[in-house]
Amino acid sequence: MSGRNDAPDVGNARAGNAARPSSSRHYEVVDGRPHLIGTRCSACGAAFFPPRHVCPNCLTDESMERWRFGNIGRLYAHTVIHIASPEFNPPYPFGYLVLEPENVRIPAMITGVDDRFPLRTGMKMEMVLDKLRDDGAGGEVVTYKFRPLADRQS
Ligand SMILES: [Zn+2]
Repeated sequence: MSGRNDAPDVGNARAGNAARPSSSRHYEVVDGRPHLIGTRCSACGAAFFPPRHVCPNCLTDESMERWRFGNIGRLYAHTVIHIASPEFNPPYPFGYLVLEPENVRIPAMITGVDDRFPLRTGMKMEMVLDKLRDDGAGGEVVTYKFRPLADRQS
């Protein structure tokens, strides 16, 4: 996690190739869908994002394994950010998502919202990769965001 912002940078991508991940990414794309990569404790079953080395329930570092989260979350809470880091472009929607099926709550920028599908607590959303900011070298820093499900019923 960047420490400065709630939404971590998940990779650098060169211009025109925005979907290409970096080597230190916190996600992977499976069947065209991005998934966050965290850790899961094989002893108690708790999952974590960002990844942890020690399970806070079991207090051991011997049971943590790499874990690929589901692509779907439910909106737990949301707001609009009006004052942001200089390289960001406020206002933008921001929220907390509960990932399914792991039941892990994470912060995320939100995209794809319009008048037909306004944000509401409890709505199902899917993770996408999107530009966070320019990287200053002609490329983009990509992050995860969530948007209302593409196959939502209208
Ligand atoms: Zn544990």
